[in-house]
Amino acid sequence: MSAAIQKCLSCGNLFFPARLFCPECGRENFSTELVEHADVAETTRLADGTLLATLRIPGGPSVVGRVTGGPASSGDRLPLANNLSTTRGVYAYLPDPSQTSGQQP
Ligand SMILES: [Zn+2]
Repeated sequence: MSAAIQKCLSCGNLFFPARLFCPECGRENFSTELVEHADVAETTRLADGTLLATLRIPGGPSVVGRVTGGPASSGDRLPLANNLSTTRGVYAYLPDPSQTSGQQP
């Protein structure tokens, strides 16, 4: 189980959601990096029961994902996934970057 995020080929910084150019070095060459897990910084439960988490990707950005399959709390390490339908257990869902950006290399 993993989630795809964007990696700058010039400076190595990781981004989510995908960028059109690197805000660190200004280059436009990216690859897709598969990230296995992230650490929960904090969680928020919405009125409809949806659990959102601020997740710190090791060596990468903090992102907001949806926690699916059970509870999670600050300090938990959760697997990441880009696909809701084929994944079981407690994990954090991030949208597929190819669905959130108009341009992918
Ligand atoms: Zn860069």
